[in-house]
Amino acid sequence: MSTTTPMTARQVAAAVASGETTAAAVVDRCLERIAAHDGSLGAFCGTFAARARRTAAAIDDRIRAGETPGPLAGVPIANKDTLLVAGERATAGSRMLAKFTAPYTASSLTRLERHDAVLIGRTNMDEFGMGSTTESSSCQRTYNPFGRGLVPGGSSGGSAAAVAADLCPLAIGSDTGGSVRQPAALCGVTGLKPTYGRVSRYGLIAYASSLDCVGAIARTAEDLALWLDSAGGNDPADATTLPPEGPTSTLLPALARRDDLRGLRLGIAAELNGPDIDPQVLASTTAAVDRLRELGAELVTCTVPTARHAVPAYYLLATAEASSNLARYDGVHYGFRHRSDRERPGDSHRRMTTDTRSQGFGPEVQLRILLGTFATSIGYSDRFYERARLARRAVRRDFARAFAGCDAIVCPTSPTPAPRFGEHADDPLQRYRWDALTVPASLAGIPALSMPVAPTPDGRPVGLQVMTPHGHDERALQIAHVFQQHTDHHLRRPRLADEGER
Ligand code: GLN
Repeated sequence: MSTTTPMTARQVAAAVASGETTAAAVVDRCLERIAAHDGSLGAFCGTFAARARRTAAAIDDRIRAGETPGPLAGVPIANKDTLLVAGERATAGSRMLAKFTAPYTASSLTRLERHDAVLIGRTNMDEFGMGSTTESSSCQRTYNPFGRGLVPGGSSGGSAAAVAADLCPLAIGSDTGGSVRQPAALCGVTGLKPTYGRVSRYGLIAYASSLDCVGAIARTAEDLALWLDSAGGNDPADATTLPPEGPTSTLLPALARRDDLRGLRLGIAAELNGPDIDPQVLASTTAAVDRLRELGAELVTCTVPTARHAVPAYYLLATAEASSNLARYDGVHYGFRHRSDRERPGDSHRRMTTDTRSQGFGPEVQLRILLGTFATSIGYSDRFYERARLARRAVRRDFARAFAGCDAIVCPTSPTPAPRFGEHADDPLQRYRWDALTVPASLAGIPALSMPVAPTPDGRPVGLQVMTPHGHDERALQIAHVFQQHTDHHLRRPRLADEGER
């Protein structure tokens, strides 16, 4: 295992701003690494090479003219293939959008570019974000850099694999029920799902709107603070964004103000650290929590009793919203259209729509549309959808009560380390249970971060999840930052198949 220190976003930005290197050189190196290694990883579905080189050249011109660049100067950022970049393809991992070109750029990405970041390419994902292994992508398979037989997690598996393999220092993800945190955990990198509404979703292809959050994956919590400082904030184009809260760009300086955890109470909930969790995972996360205690935190017990209802509640709400959001893919407005009407002139419109949706969507997406349509249909919605809404309210209330007695709640991010390809492939319920530890924070809309802790004895990464009260993203980042100042799990790198000893 190589431990050469990889470049973080902060280091890249500092090197570009000081003139030690240029944005163009950084982008070239990044594209070269992708060309050299992504063939065996499958993290990227495509690069934005021409756009990236143009952006980098413009940044370098301004630096040469004496301008001070933004805080993300020349930082190459990978984009999950579900956020739009004007003029580039955006497929959401679906055949339905295989030929779709984005007409505008997502607000959160425009903000990154305004801070002088460079969007480098689009990363693979489960179709429309539905999955936990990236296997439901219609594009390709993504391999976990820590073992070719292992899944990278999902749905932002491409983004997590790209950062883990050091193909880029920062990658964007979206997290509806754990899609940033879980692949970050399985690939040994750090991932943040901010408070719901903190980052604009304008330009994010919708999955389940009451849960969707734009998040990011990086090596360090510091880089995630840098990202959130730039990407976050109120957006008139997204009515669900939180109102402006005074000065922005405050996270990174806030991290620097702490180098221990004194005065912080960490809540341990039995429901989230229980017998369903793999013993090796639990051993690693328990050791990490002990380390947090040594760094000054006080450990307290807390309880989130309704967490056990989170998986069924999440899967009813998410599929209900997805069935409505995905109704737009009808073969008429945009996206894939089955040409049954051409083959059999006179065939009905209904037939065309049926063929389009049967062939444009993969099996997991079709399953979820059926489930969501059923859960919201007359005669059933009281029993399913409405009860799920009540369960969600109870989960929120439990978290609010728990946070009255602690400042953050910690637990493993995923109940298992990275599984092998195909494990539980034909048992959707088993797969949905993998999300048991990430969906509670999604239902509550609170910030949650996953950071790498000691791997399992066979070398598979393990993540510790840190959840904090609504709006307190900085606290989750701070806890991870202090931990990373005193440990080096976040610096562990896989040796890539086509890479010699570094
Ligand atoms: N695995 C969960 C699902 O399939 C979460 C996905 C996500 O956060 N996009 O719904």
